[in-house]
Amino acid sequence: MRIGAIEAGGTKFVCGVGNENGEIEERIHFQTRRPEETMEKVIDFFRDKRVDSMGIGSFGPIDIDHSSPTYGYVTTTPKPGWAGYHFVGTLKSIFDVPIGWDTDVNAAALGEAKWGAAKGLDSCVYYTIGTGIGVGIYSEGNLIHGLVHPEGGHTLTRRHPNDTFGGICPYHGDCLEGMASGSALEARWKAKGDSLPKDHLAWEMEAFYIAHAISSVILTLSPKKVIIGGGVMKQAQLFPMIREEVGRILNGYVSSASIVSDIEYYIVPPGLGENAGLCGAVALGARALAYKQGNKG
Ligand code: ZN
Repeated sequence: MRIGAIEAGGTKFVCGVGNENGEIEERIHFQTRRPEETMEKVIDFFRDKRVDSMGIGSFGPIDIDHSSPTYGYVTTTPKPGWAGYHFVGTLKSIFDVPIGWDTDVNAAALGEAKWGAAKGLDSCVYYTIGTGIGVGIYSEGNLIHGLVHPEGGHTLTRRHPNDTFGGICPYHGDCLEGMASGSALEARWKAKGDSLPKDHLAWEMEAFYIAHAISSVILTLSPKKVIIGGGVMKQAQLFPMIREEVGRILNGYVSSASIVSDIEYYIVPPGLGENAGLCGAVALGARALAYKQGNKG
């Protein structure tokens, strides 16, 4: 089985070809520009690849409601040219194969559940902490969509006691993304994250906000694994700080060994590493193909 995979990020696109075991055979990446220019590169890459299906994990917000007239569209993004763009339709007009379509973070959650840190589990939550913050939710064997799709990057959290920063989210100011995304970190400290020392107050604040968000998700969804990826999490010192803070916030209330004694194995980086997004897109493509074959039968 040859599955075309697209990890459509706000700053970078990654295209690849994978198989039913989540192995990636070849890939390319390029900067995200206006849709016509970007999609031309996508189409060129896949033109001679003879894929059986495709999967797209996309930046959002996007329309993933099959009954909606704008299914397959990017909806309200401020990225130039992309708002109202028919992403799935553009590919469908050229490649006559089943196409799986979901948010980048839902794709990553599915990939991690199939082949990564949550392999064998029927639930996990996947956070990406990068330029923005997104959350993908896999629960009882299904990706959660609900009304539109979860937007857990914009939840409100308690404020760090020493933080006077107003936040940068154009919609909410000091929501999680407004306070703890890579862009927020840069705006608050007037420096790139990787130029700050590992014991800088910036990381204590990062861990504080991320831990509050994760604690709420643990209390709400009770996931069996919490996976945190994205550029900011390359600061590996954040993991022990987040685990400790989550332990402090929950304070023994959630009486599971996963949290009380084994939190080191509960809040983890992606098992698929840098491949989480692309493998997730492969998983979406594999699922779209299986669904079509199932319908035929
Ligand atoms: Zn927000």
